[in-house]
Amino acid sequence: NPCKQNYHPIQDATWKKGENIPYLALAKTLELIEETSSRLKMIEILANYFRSVFLLSPDDLLCSVYLCLNQLAPAYVGLELGVGEGIIIKAIAQATGRAPEKVKSDIAIKGDVGLVAEASKGTQRTLSMFKPASLTVNGVFTKLTEIAEMTGNSSQMKKVDKIHGLLVAAKQLEARFITRSLAGKLRIGLAEQSLLQALAFAAAVTPPNQSTPPTQLNCFAGLSSEAVKAKVEASAVILKTAYCQCPSYDRIIPVLLREGVEALPLHCSLTPGVPLKPMLACPTRGVGEVLQKFESSKFTCEWKYDGERAQIHLLENGEVRIYSRNQENNTSKYPDIISRFQSWINPSTSVHSAILDSEAVAWDIEKKQILPFQILSTRKRKDAVEADIKVQVCVYAFDLLYLNGESLVQMPLAERRQRLWNSFHKVCGQFDFATSRDPQTVEEIEEFLDESLKGNCEGLMVKGLVKDATYEIAKRSKNWLKLKKDYLDGVGDTIDAVVIGGYLGRGKRTGLYGGFLLACYDETNEEYQSLCKIGTGFSDEDFLTHSNFLKDHKISKPKPYYRYDQTLSPDHWFEPVQVWEIKCADLSISPVHRAAIGNIDPDKGISLRFPRFIRIRTDKNPDNATSSEQIADLYRSQEQVKNKKNCEDEEA
Ligand code: ATP
Repeated sequence: NPCKQNYHPIQDATWKKGENIPYLALAKTLELIEETSSRLKMIEILANYFRSVFLLSPDDLLCSVYLCLNQLAPAYVGLELGVGEGIIIKAIAQATGRAPEKVKSDIAIKGDVGLVAEASKGTQRTLSMFKPASLTVNGVFTKLTEIAEMTGNSSQMKKVDKIHGLLVAAKQLEARFITRSLAGKLRIGLAEQSLLQALAFAAAVTPPNQSTPPTQLNCFAGLSSEAVKAKVEASAVILKTAYCQCPSYDRIIPVLLREGVEALPLHCSLTPGVPLKPMLACPTRGVGEVLQKFESSKFTCEWKYDGERAQIHLLENGEVRIYSRNQENNTSKYPDIISRFQSWINPSTSVHSAILDSEAVAWDIEKKQILPFQILSTRKRKDAVEADIKVQVCVYAFDLLYLNGESLVQMPLAERRQRLWNSFHKVCGQFDFATSRDPQTVEEIEEFLDESLKGNCEGLMVKGLVKDATYEIAKRSKNWLKLKKDYLDGVGDTIDAVVIGGYLGRGKRTGLYGGFLLACYDETNEEYQSLCKIGTGFSDEDFLTHSNFLKDHKISKPKPYYRYDQTLSPDHWFEPVQVWEIKCADLSISPVHRAAIGNIDPDKGISLRFPRFIRIRTDKNPDNATSSEQIADLYRSQEQVKNKKNCEDEEA
């Protein structure tokens, strides 16, 4: 508990009030975090750093937060770090006087560009009598942004120059984190939820606009430790809620500094142009479970379209933007949606700002029917030109979250849907509302499910209509149930797992990986827990593609936040970078795998039986993979069905 610590943010900080924070202070903080595997300890370390920033250099808080997350801007801005390894190698070589081949071979051995840059700085002879000025957090952030913004022919050379400049000025530890930032991975195992918790703590104990000299600051004076804890927790809830609605530190940090946590709900709520984290659904294993869940409360069933989630924002200035499930800006992928959007607005109403939740689905213009997801995935992912688009999409809208300056998320679905239907209208093959029906009986639901499958959909989404029917931002909610065809015969859902290791292939697969170790994500401990080994479902081409991709993400040792049994150690470990969709026969308790350990069985995890590769989930980040909680839920519901079946058999 950070409150109990005797950390003094002023005395322990290495810089003075009003000065820019030295980058070394941040690098040391990141190193401490890297060395710890306890989530609480990580939060404590980071909270202490943030507290110093709040008190001494508030202007550096925003860039500190971004650097800790290895981001330069909100995801939807699309400004990404990630420079090719060749460029980084060149810059390290130039800055430290080493041969590029040597740097390259060291990276191959150590599997970490950061450690190699750090060691290279250590062996460097001093070439100049002039010591370059020390790096600051702000300065490094600005330079990284400039590097990310460089495009065009001569940008490679310019990038090498800029990185070279940074590395010449960097101390050893600084070189580790600068090069890791550039390579796109900090490798410290810090999840965003932990950062938010740390930020909330720092904000709670450091009120804005301090007139008291900070050395006398003790806003917990006279409070019991319970009261302190409650205050910190309340701040964390407010901050996390604000971040769900408005996932932009550019907007949140200035409010935090100016007016404190309490002011966030007022200034950082739903805003067209800022994508929110979507509501997600829970799986079910059958129609019976649906009726059980909703009992006597009203629910509706909608077709579950198999395309790409599209959060469509209409801004007050008439601009239309589209965001993905992960808040990436997909606007340039869908110029066709953008140019048509205004024509979907009901002419008898006035819609000047809105946020729609919808699914963009590939559409066969001639046959006037929905096409499978695979066709949609052939569309250009960025900068598409409308005239060149071959795959038409139809947008199926299923929710309206914001209309004309008003957030609708607290309204029940029945009301949101009515506003959606009133505000827009169907245009064949371009825009439609999700087909819906409000069935009452098992037979009626089954009939509708059948119709959805015939309509090339994946199944149904079942949603509360009046009670428990608000739009729960960023939540996987029991008030949205997915009923897929697979549920009826398999496990209940496909599973999205992260590939963390590879086993070298033999015979035909020599030189490639022939099998992989997969993991689910445990949100509580922020770790990847081994779930199964997989070697089935791959085409020859898949093996080649995966091997080529993953060899660039090899690491020399497993991450401290990988949980697995030694007997499963793969030939090569990988960074957690890719999510695969997996089907399996069922889930079983496993003595070796660690998924959901402690949830169903105190010492054993859960694993997938007969896992089969379906596809890569490009729309999911590793920490959006199926969670250990979801794995435990799938296991539990599978067991319930088994028990029920056994009872029925016995009764018969
Ligand atoms: P996750 O639940 O983790 O998003 P997923 O990405 O594999 O899992 P599914 O579990 O298959 O997605 O189902 C949820 C997705 O279904 C939504 O994110 C949305 O993209 C899509 N979808 C299609 N039709 C609807 C609908 N009528 N209502 C809500 N979501 C729908």
